[in-house]
Amino acid sequence: MSPSDYPFSLGELIVLPRAVRDRAIRVEDMTSASMPTAADSIDRGAWCLFLDRDGVINSRIMHGYVRSWEEFEFLPGALDALVTLSTWAPRIVVVTNQQGIAKGLMTPSDLSSIHARMREAVVEAGGRIDAIEVCPHMADAACACRKPQPGMALRYLSAHPELDAARSVMVGDTDSDIEMGHRLSVITGGCHTVRIGATHDVHAHETFPALAAFASTIATPTRSPRQDQSVE
Ligand SMILES: [Mg+2]
Ligand SMILES: [Zn+2]
Repeated sequence: MSPSDYPFSLGELIVLPRAVRDRAIRVEDMTSASMPTAADSIDRGAWCLFLDRDGVINSRIMHGYVRSWEEFEFLPGALDALVTLSTWAPRIVVVTNQQGIAKGLMTPSDLSSIHARMREAVVEAGGRIDAIEVCPHMADAACACRKPQPGMALRYLSAHPELDAARSVMVGDTDSDIEMGHRLSVITGGCHTVRIGATHDVHAHETFPALAAFASTIATPTRSPRQDQSVE
């Protein structure tokens, strides 16, 4: 696909009909997007794995924000999971809502330094994070980037037209992350959604208790789709 064929831009997202932007995505809207395999990447071009941060890579701070590196704690197995995922995904991009910035609880530079340390730790472990997209806005700001809006993913995909946007994968631990994946799919034509959580999410293509469990399924270069995996 050449850049001129690219099906959307962030500008178009902003003028998407309200009905599309705001509708609740129902189960029957789910695309049958299957998991890309490493073999696909060679045959059909690169794609992007989008990862939520808090509750997927690092521990969430309930009713608060990770405001410094001292407060940042990798979840068990998350670093190794990122190493495994780095061998599978042509791009890994973190998409994270951080309204603590708009609230003045941390500065953009506090967040940048947390992210620099996080990326360093991942690289030291042998993995990589290709980019980090942040929404710093308030929940009520009606921006195009705060999840469940898909603006952060679209911003990255728009800047990287070499990627096959319809083969995106979105991993997150909240309803909002999964809905973001579905909204992205409405625009790009596909997004495989992976819920991290203790309870099976019927709205996601797959559910795993932790990023480590998801990554452990990437054992071979020809990972096959595993739809509707439930969690005991
Ligand atoms: Mg989260
Ligand atoms: Zn935003």
